Amino acid sequence: MVDIVHPRSAGRALEAAELLAWFDEHARELPWRAPGVSAWQILVSEFMLQQTPVARVLPIWLDWVARWPTPSATAAAGPGEVLRAWGKLGYPRRAKWLHDCAVRIAAEHDDTVPDDVETLLGLPGVGSYTARAVACFAYRRPVPVVDTNVRRVVARAVDGVAEPGSPAPVRDEAAVAALLPADDVAPRFSAALMELGALVCTARAPRCGVCPLSSCRWREAGYPASTAPARRTQRYAGTDRQVRGRLLDVLRAATGPVTRGQLDLAWTTDPAQRDRALDSLLVDGLVEQTGAGLFALCGEG
Ligand code: SF4
Repeated sequence: MVDIVHPRSAGRALEAAELLAWFDEHARELPWRAPGVSAWQILVSEFMLQQTPVARVLPIWLDWVARWPTPSATAAAGPGEVLRAWGKLGYPRRAKWLHDCAVRIAAEHDDTVPDDVETLLGLPGVGSYTARAVACFAYRRPVPVVDTNVRRVVARAVDGVAEPGSPAPVRDEAAVAALLPADDVAPRFSAALMELGALVCTARAPRCGVCPLSSCRWREAGYPASTAPARRTQRYAGTDRQVRGRLLDVLRAATGPVTRGQLDLAWTTDPAQRDRALDSLLVDGLVEQTGAGLFALCGEG
């Protein structure tokens, strides 16, 4: 952690002008931020970016929006093809929800993503974060957008603690809403806050020496240690998530339904775990069984 030279200004909330000036200079050129990107394409990026790093999302998103630029094009592709295109982004229920979302928007919203948070919240797989991110970034609504990065920056700069507490959407959104500047710059401020958390105020190694904020209560307090219980690193190898991924790989690669025997070969270490993973894929609607007892991606049975 680099030490600081900023003047103290305790008591001042996070300074919007400093953050916006930094963002003007340092914002990454991400394709979903480019002019002319549609609300649907922004919604697709938000689905993909939940729990998946930007570098892995980029190539998939670019292919995706070139292939299916609108909700109706995505809906027409069918859920199995959408799941196939999702590739190795992980957490594949997001792909199913995205297809369900496309179907609803095409059928009920004239192929146009709704622009208000309440209607967005009614769409499949759209939670508080995604609804606000789409309203803010696609439609420039001055609503608070709170992701992990934002919660961390606010915890440090405003609350003076190393890490945010457990997520509490209503409280967290109110805290960020209180920081938003005038409506016309609020969406850019929200993007800048997220970017600061992603690039500078990172979880493990905040780069305070290059931080644009002249006031940060955690820094000013001398970086008091976190009192939160240590987080366990999530492993992937050997988990049900990995087994589900292997089973889906078999189905993605197949041109039609496959036998139970073909799926069994995907994970031979622990048959009970494999059965559990397959059951969960069936329950989630990602896989379906045909009348002949074969298995296929959703919509392809
Ligand atoms: S906001 Fe983060 S990066 Fe900036 S000074 Fe505070 S702890 Fe450091």
